Amino acid sequence: MNQLNYIIVGGGSAGCVLAARLSEDPATQVALLEAGGDDKSVLIHCPAGVAVLAQTGGHNWAFDTVPQPGLNGRQGYQPRGKVLGGSSSVNAMIYMRGQAADYDNWAAMGNPGWSFADVLPAFKRAEHNERGADAFHGQGGPLNVMDLCDPNPLGQAFVQAGVQAGFAHNRDFNGADQEGVGPYQVTHKGGERFSAAKAYLTAAVRARPNLHVVTGAQARKVVMRGKQAVGVEYQQAGQIKQLMCSHEVLLCAGALQSPQLLMLSGIGPRDHLLAHGIGPVVESAGVGQQLHDHIDVVQVVRAPKATESFGLSVGGAWAALKGIVRWRNERRGLLTTNYAEAGGFIKTTAAEATPDVQFHFVVGQLVNHGRTPVWGHGYSCHVCLLRPKSRGSVMLATADPLAAPLIVGQPRPHARVGAWLFMPCVPASAQVTRQRDVGHG
Ligand SMILES: Cc1cc2nc3c(=O)[nH]c(=O)nc-3n(C[C@H](O)[C@H](O)[C@H](O)COP(=O)(O)OP(=O)(O)OC[C@H]3O[C@@H](n4cnc5c(N)ncnc54)[C@H](O)[C@@H]3O)c2cc1C
Repeated sequence: MNQLNYIIVGGGSAGCVLAARLSEDPATQVALLEAGGDDKSVLIHCPAGVAVLAQTGGHNWAFDTVPQPGLNGRQGYQPRGKVLGGSSSVNAMIYMRGQAADYDNWAAMGNPGWSFADVLPAFKRAEHNERGADAFHGQGGPLNVMDLCDPNPLGQAFVQAGVQAGFAHNRDFNGADQEGVGPYQVTHKGGERFSAAKAYLTAAVRARPNLHVVTGAQARKVVMRGKQAVGVEYQQAGQIKQLMCSHEVLLCAGALQSPQLLMLSGIGPRDHLLAHGIGPVVESAGVGQQLHDHIDVVQVVRAPKATESFGLSVGGAWAALKGIVRWRNERRGLLTTNYAEAGGFIKTTAAEATPDVQFHFVVGQLVNHGRTPVWGHGYSCHVCLLRPKSRGSVMLATADPLAAPLIVGQPRPHARVGAWLFMPCVPASAQVTRQRDVGHG
């Protein structure tokens, strides 16, 4: 490897974009370190494979929070991608931006360049929306966005039921207004998942002589010279190695592991670092703080007659077998589902300026992230708080760089506020799911 200019840690959504953009200049030497492997598994490329990926440890860090006092001692399962593409290789593929007001708030909090007017051109430049370009959408960008090619009739029934229940029909949640119910657009192309790795680390990009993609390489810490980041120590196949760079180390290890890496490198709250035997290099009390955990409850509805749903039954197994054959031959059919096919955004009170709750309608019974099998047919509706009040943290459990971080999602006092906020919206989702068009059963 030549003298590097940039080292990117983490080949997920952010890391893939940076690797592709920085290496556009042939004079710039870039290394991308990814702890997981290449994204070869068919479970990544076949959209329905997400049901397996989110459950197992193959391409998934599969973290848990510590037991949460605010959630009656429950631990929150935290799946995260561990493969090229990162979480975009294991996620539910919904193409969803934040609300315009979210970005405007960030800018108002003292972050120039992050208002919606600032970020919209970047979203449009990144996008290739198969519906076409308009004031909110782009064409010609690397990230393919489309409507599901074979949507499940249950998702459409959810939308109809939502309209009957009085919610607006919204066919573009990333358009002028987010409120209402409608189908989600997905990051798919030709019936396959279109992860950040597929969009940005194309064969042509990976062939660039100035881009070095190193997989199976888990960063242990940033190498510091004084207060300057000058390299990365990482572990690959049991060996500890170092890479140095002249410009920048870019931490793209995700919301949980980037702060962990900072603290392992001596950047973080002084007492916490010292408690783990790490000498503080840069004291920064905010590292690992302010974790926003978007708490989510799932209503699961048993609907034996809804045989078009994904379900454990003889008919369900037969449909899945036919789906495998169709996907292999045509990249169409049942297995092109992202499961969370439709959804909605509502305001729990008229006082909310923008929706504060999101629905994800799932075309199957989803219990415990799909880790608890449920016999028969049915459907589910996630109800997620978009502006949670609780603030958690990510801290070191130990100074071992290979250990999981200590994740606190819902500390007690704020979770009560969360539970209170849920009260108006769970009946709203029940109202939608009980309308006669959904579920037949
Ligand atoms: C199950 C699930 C479903 C989701 N569904 C959706 C959805 O439908 N729509 C949506 O918009 N968003 C969804 N998300 C969220 C979205 O995928 C993430 O917000 C996004 O991918 C985060 O990007 P990132 O680059 O910050 O991190 P990631 O994409 O997670 O990338 C981090 C990368 O860093 C690597 N890494 C970590 N530590 C190290 C280390 N020490 N050394 C080297 N590499 C390291 C990881 O292996 C990973 O590849 C979902 C997420 C999950 C987990």
